Amino acid sequence: MRYTVITGASSGIGYESALAFAERGKNLILIARREHKLEDLKAEIRQHNAEIDVVVEPTDLSIMENVYAIYEKLKVYEIDTWINNAGFGVKSPVADQDLDKVENMILLNTQALTILSTLYVRDYTNVEGSQLINVASSGGYSILPNAVTYTATKFFVSSFTEGLAEELASKGASLQAKILAPGITETEFAKRALDTDKFDYKERMPNFHTAKEMAQFMLQLYDSDKTLGLVDEKTYEFELKDP
Ligand code: NDP
Repeated sequence: MRYTVITGASSGIGYESALAFAERGKNLILIARREHKLEDLKAEIRQHNAEIDVVVEPTDLSIMENVYAIYEKLKVYEIDTWINNAGFGVKSPVADQDLDKVENMILLNTQALTILSTLYVRDYTNVEGSQLINVASSGGYSILPNAVTYTATKFFVSSFTEGLAEELASKGASLQAKILAPGITETEFAKRALDTDKFDYKERMPNFHTAKEMAQFMLQLYDSDKTLGLVDEKTYEFELKDP
């Protein structure tokens, strides 16, 4: 039996992607810190499709020993798709940023993603149909004011994954590495980062995407031979291309 791993599955893009992959009949392994949210998602999926196996693994991925431990624990499963989606952003001018939060952000957005990508590549390079999808940001292609450290972590995700994709292709590997680069998407993260409780989302940003739409873009990227699924910052159009 083959599985899709989604980190950051307890809300937003990860949650909706889990539902979208479940609709495709994929067995799922769901990772995030909030266990009750993952259990709710599991129940929702199983209510619609009892055939699907859903494994819930509550884990804090900003702690590196947890990152190694969860990968080791999941070695009993055959995992044909690994989606590194968990991430968050600290919004502040650099001089004012909370360095403890920044450390957690860098560890989660870059270090955990690098470790999980590396371990997955080691084990799945030659597995037919295997995919690694890393979630960057359209901010990983242009700098966001007041969030430059967050943006830098997403530049890291983009360049690391792009380089990895080239490396795999040059080796003739079966595994494909891909980048999903969402634009502003209506999720808990965006609400926190943009203080959207204080203004009407739709009025200020009529073209923002919902997490459900982003999950459909994730599926389009999964189905495509292209390496990058990018939301254009100005037009909000989603396009598939090679970087
Ligand atoms: P959400 O806040 O809704 O989701 C983030 C997910 O990451 C949650 O499931 C959260 O679960 C999980 N997470 C956070 N910290 C940790 C941790 N330490 N260990 C394990 N899991 C963790 O935000 P989005 O859905 O918007 O974000 C998903 C990805 O999309 C992120 O990488 C983000 O940077 C990226 N992105 C989002 C954009 C947007 O506008 N929304 C735009 C561009 C990129 P829990 O709290 O339960 O641990």
